[in-house]
Amino acid sequence: MVGWFVDAHAHASAVGLGYEDVVRRFRAAGGRLIVLVQLNPGSYGLSESLEGVARSLEAHVSLCNRVKREYGGVLCLGGLHPATVDKLLRASGNPVETYRRLESEYVGRLESLLREGLIDGLGEFGRPHFPTMPESWAANELLLLRALEVARDANAVVHVHSENAGLLTLESLRVFVERAGVSRERVLVHHAPPSHAHLYAEEGFYVSVVGKSRAVGELGSECSNVLVESDYLDDPRRPGAVMYPWDIEREVSRAVEDGLLTSKCAERVLRENPSVYYGITA
Ligand SMILES: [Zn+2]
Repeated sequence: MVGWFVDAHAHASAVGLGYEDVVRRFRAAGGRLIVLVQLNPGSYGLSESLEGVARSLEAHVSLCNRVKREYGGVLCLGGLHPATVDKLLRASGNPVETYRRLESEYVGRLESLLREGLIDGLGEFGRPHFPTMPESWAANELLLLRALEVARDANAVVHVHSENAGLLTLESLRVFVERAGVSRERVLVHHAPPSHAHLYAEEGFYVSVVGKSRAVGELGSECSNVLVESDYLDDPRRPGAVMYPWDIEREVSRAVEDGLLTSKCAERVLRENPSVYYGITA
C-alpha cells in the first residue's frame, strides 16, 4: 500500500528536531497533512507560568505558520494541555485567579487567532490522565467547556485530551458537547485506546489512535471516524516518542500485512476519515 497519509495529531518543539525538520521529513515520506498541536511552555524554552503559556502560544503560531507557508500540508492548533493547567494552578497562590485569567485572557487570544486565521483549530483541552488536586480537575473541565464553545462559534475542530475512562469519559463528553452546542463531528478524542475507538465513533465523535502497527491492529475492521496520529513529542529527552510522524504509513501497512487490519480500514484511517474531518479536498 503506497499513498499519501495524514498525521492527525503531532507536535514539534523548539528544543528537539524543530518544526522545520519534522515537517520536511514528514512531507518527504509522502505525508499529505500534519496537524501540529501546541506544546507546553518548556518545549519552547519558556517558563511554566501564565506569561510563559501566553508566549508559548505566540511561539507556536509563528513557527507553525512559517512551516505551513514553506511546505504546505500543515494545520496549526492552539490550546492548553491539562498538565499545563495543573502546573500553573499548583504553582499559583491563587488558583481561582489563575483560572480566571486563563479563561479570559488566554482563551480570548485563541479566539482572535482563530478569527485571524492564524490557528486552524483548538487543542488540546481536557482532563488530566493522572491524579491531581481538585482545583485542577475543575478548572480543566471549565476550560474544556469554554474551548468547545469557542470551537462552536468558529466552526473549528477541537482535540480533547482525556483520562480514557471508557464509557464514563464518553458520557461526560456527551454532556459537555451538548451544553456547548458544538457539533460532535468537530470533536476529536485524541490518543484514545484502540479498544475504545468504536465507543466514540458510534456516537458521532471522531477519535485518533496512535499509528503503531500493534495499536491500529486492534481496530480490526472497525474504522468509522477513526484517524491515526503520531503524537510525536519532539522531546530530546524522549527521542522518537510517541512515534515518528513519517513512520505512520509503514506501521499501518505492517498491520495489514500481518492480517490485523483490513486494507479497507487502512485506507479509511490514513486518508478517507481525516479528509472528512479536516475538510481536505482532492
Ligand atoms: Zn498530544
